[in-house]
Amino acid sequence: MSLNIENIRKDFPILNRQVNGKPLVYFDNAATSQTPQQVIDCIVDYYSGYNANIHRGVHTLSQEATDKYEEARLKIQAHFNAKKTHEIIFTSGTTHGINLIANGFSSLLKKDDEIIVSALEHHSNIVPWQMLCERTGATLKVIPMNQDGELVMSEFDKLLSQNTKLVFVNHISNALGTINPIEAIIEKAHQFDAAVLVDGAQACPHIKPDVQALDVDFYVASAHKMCGPTGVGILYGKEKWLNLLPPYQGGGEMIAEVTFERTTYADLPHKFEAGTPNICGGIAFGAAIDYMNAIGFDAIANYEHELLEYATEKLLAIDGLKIYGTSKHKTSVVSFNLEGIHPYDVGTILDKLGIAVRTGHHCAQPIMDFFKIPGTVRASFAFYNTKEEIDALVAGVKKAQMMLS
Ligand code: PMP
Repeated sequence: MSLNIENIRKDFPILNRQVNGKPLVYFDNAATSQTPQQVIDCIVDYYSGYNANIHRGVHTLSQEATDKYEEARLKIQAHFNAKKTHEIIFTSGTTHGINLIANGFSSLLKKDDEIIVSALEHHSNIVPWQMLCERTGATLKVIPMNQDGELVMSEFDKLLSQNTKLVFVNHISNALGTINPIEAIIEKAHQFDAAVLVDGAQACPHIKPDVQALDVDFYVASAHKMCGPTGVGILYGKEKWLNLLPPYQGGGEMIAEVTFERTTYADLPHKFEAGTPNICGGIAFGAAIDYMNAIGFDAIANYEHELLEYATEKLLAIDGLKIYGTSKHKTSVVSFNLEGIHPYDVGTILDKLGIAVRTGHHCAQPIMDFFKIPGTVRASFAFYNTKEEIDALVAGVKKAQMMLS
């Protein structure tokens, strides 16, 4: 089924605004997506109708807020196809989810254990593991990538051993858009009884992951990349792992009983949800998932692929433009540079034309080091973008090239 883009765009009030006197062209979707009116309404309804703290209150507002928050958890469970509702932990986002797991494994790892990450990771999937290695004496190993920005799976095979305890990889690279072969990675890691965490921050805006079919141990995502608000996300974990790991933070909500001598912890999911959560954010995350599912992930993926092919062809026609991340398995991200021109300068001129792109290392410095570049210009497309907007980008890049050469 094809998408009615004109109607979809009406759902996003921000797309009507002007930037520097030009209609906004928003191509920074990999950093954060825009918010449809349905999600904005949900946030307004919460604060104007039933704002209250959850789980503890006997009063009506608290019960209404608790019901809506737990309804959102059920929606998220269904979306990710988790077996059990309590395998969904609300977090403040992908970074929080990764740190929660890295912290939990502090007590499970020992010297000589090995952790494998990929060369394509966001800093949030590198630094917590380095910190974990410092705490435990474990060693970090890296699956290398090739010139297309794809992981070299034969090298992964060589890294795996009886010492491998954890494997962490992103589902889709934020810097290049490469879709990683996570099915094969999970299967191979499991042959060595290693747990696998997949960072789904960039995948969830484009595809619907099925955590049971993937047989993944942990999967993390952020709502703000998929039409939801910032400051909320989820960690999916297999029940057996979540029961094994110690809590990340102590506080209210996560206890069964507290005395000064000893505290016992609450059952899942509350064991990992200390303190007052982002209640409104969690509920709005549920609304964002409803919104995206109503549009349909197959239709979204097909349309975004069309945008990717269109943009790739038009941009490559510009002399001196090089695209980084040339895998056939990629999502709607085009990371590029103009020969002899700094990406920041291109981004600044595009902004003057109302076009929002990201420039820099995209929190993935090892990828930039691999290509020996300071950064790239990254245009990332969502299902509400159009080919006309891509034409504006291409014209803007040509203008930047003319002005800066
Ligand atoms: N991993 C990847 C692949 C990302 O793209 C991002 C966000 N740029 C993150 C992790 C971190 O997400 P958040 O800032 O929402 O915690």
